[in-house]
Amino acid sequence: MRSSSDHPVVIVGAGLAGLSCAATLHGAGLPVVVIESSDGIGGRVRTDEVDGFLLDRGFQVLLTAYPELERQFNIDALELEAFDPGALIHTERGEFELGDPLKQPSSLTPTLRTALSQAVGSPGDFVRLLTLRYRLARTGVPTLLRGPDVATIDALVSLGFSSTFINRFFRPLVGGIQLDLGLNTSARMFDTILKMLFSGSAAVPRHGMQTISQQLAQQIPEHLIHLQVPVRSVSSQAVRVDSGEISASSVVIATDGNTAADLLDQPRTTPRSAGCVWFDAPEPPTKRRLIVLDGERSGPVANVAVMSNVSSRYAPPGRHLIAAAAPGYGKADLEQQARAQLTSWWGKAIDGWTTLRVDHIAYGQPDQSPAFSPKRTVEVKEHVFVCGDHRDTGSIQGALYSGRRCANAILNARK
Ligand SMILES: Cc1cc2nc3c(=O)[nH]c(=O)nc-3n(C[C@H](O)[C@H](O)[C@H](O)COP(=O)(O)OP(=O)(O)OC[C@H]3O[C@@H](n4cnc5c(N)ncnc54)[C@H](O)[C@@H]3O)c2cc1C
Repeated sequence: MRSSSDHPVVIVGAGLAGLSCAATLHGAGLPVVVIESSDGIGGRVRTDEVDGFLLDRGFQVLLTAYPELERQFNIDALELEAFDPGALIHTERGEFELGDPLKQPSSLTPTLRTALSQAVGSPGDFVRLLTLRYRLARTGVPTLLRGPDVATIDALVSLGFSSTFINRFFRPLVGGIQLDLGLNTSARMFDTILKMLFSGSAAVPRHGMQTISQQLAQQIPEHLIHLQVPVRSVSSQAVRVDSGEISASSVVIATDGNTAADLLDQPRTTPRSAGCVWFDAPEPPTKRRLIVLDGERSGPVANVAVMSNVSSRYAPPGRHLIAAAAPGYGKADLEQQARAQLTSWWGKAIDGWTTLRVDHIAYGQPDQSPAFSPKRTVEVKEHVFVCGDHRDTGSIQGALYSGRRCANAILNARK
């Protein structure tokens, strides 16, 4: 086939960035085709039904303050179920609540008790957290993303947080979200994610994270998305697949960062990996809708969430789904290590838990250590565009924004 502007924009990858790009272009009346190598849409945001449980691919949450949600979704139809703000922090002295009394006044007393107990940090750390919250509330995301580009750990130390508070709270919480327990990610990302956590909720759609991907895909006719077709190479105005060549007016590479690097003949980078063990438990270790953080660095699991406390649909009636998330842990003994760790927390009850699945995700998020700058170039060659979380911020927001930004660049180029 010869290429011409009558050909569709061919989008390689049906993750959030590719789907967002496709939906924006289709909405603007441009012909599009999405070519996806795997057996389903959603990329890293997929959910599998296993024995009546809903297992996301790795523990993930949607931060309701992400600006792209309003722009690209019917939020009511996502049926979001929110975690309570804050966390329960597991220490050798027991579990301590660090809530957000500004959002949930009932958490004031337990949070004050935690501050006074000094089990998680000093009262001064709590004051510093409030001060940080105030600064983030007054600063817009574009400014935060242009802020000091130092490692998160260095930023926290220079703000005066004690190592106890960093290790017991920030490391398992933010390190868990950014798949970076070393807290080496740029403070620009840390500030942005923390602002989102403070200003909205952490939530999951009632029927699993994949609802997000499905709602985007519904904006494009189904026959335009081709599954199980790996793209082998791209050139200006065509992509090569096993059965031949697909001509394109423009090509959008919407894969993960390393596949994009391969297709563009550029060097790969080391991504952030993730592990997660999913358990079926007869009784939950807590009835709270709070994430439980490992305040002791007692094993590979940084945080535990009772998913069925947040959305009852995640488990069959009378059962409970536990996600034990182990950012950066890629070893084969994850299940065994997680069981040993959680037994040290909650005792023999863990023996009654059945393992549903162990996830090892090699490419969880792109590395966004300093020097880090989002909004990387969209058009890398004539008619060849790139989008994905590795071009903007390593998050659902970043992928959605990147897809839409890429689509707008294509639309602008045609004006
Ligand atoms: C365990 C885990 C936890 C996370 N936690 C959070 C969180 O709590 N909050 C948050 O905001 N973000 C989180 N993220 C990050 C978020 O999921 C990603 O940033 C986002 O989903 C990336 O979307 P994407 O479209 O850029 O890439 P992807 O989802 O990777 O999509 C790329 C698509 O391209 C396809 N593809 C690859 N190669 C080819 C090829 N050759 N031909 C055709 N198709 C190809 C892939 O199969 C895939 O479908 C987490 C990620 C993981 C893995």
